[in-house]
Amino acid sequence: MSVQERSNRRPARVPVLIRKGDMVRVVSGRDRLGFAHRSARVLAVNRTDATVTVEHAQIIKKHTRRNPQKNVAGGVLDKEAPIHVSNVMIVCPSCDRPTRIGSKTRQEGNRTVRTRVCKHCAAPLDR
Ligand SMILES: [Zn+2]
Repeated sequence: MSVQERSNRRPARVPVLIRKGDMVRVVSGRDRLGFAHRSARVLAVNRTDATVTVEHAQIIKKHTRRNPQKNVAGGVLDKEAPIHVSNVMIVCPSCDRPTRIGSKTRQEGNRTVRTRVCKHCAAPLDR
């Protein structure tokens, strides 16, 4: 347990550029080979411990207790576990390559809008 977890302070939020719904590739860790040429959707982002849950990646056996009130049958379930953000890369929709995330700002009236861009082809990663 880290010092941060033991303290009563709210845990610090880590800046994570990946968002829920993004298509990513797992580039490191247990599932790197299975996802080397296949991208998968991000199901959840945890900004306090900098992890993402990726569809069909890092499957664990979750032992669940039966809960009739929530209609949970119980037993051993296959479930995605969170993986660290540094182990995934976003896939650019226009050049279809795993990429680092750049940033571009533009003026829209009197407010500045920031969009994430691909480091390879500079195409926007957000529509
Ligand atoms: Zn690109």
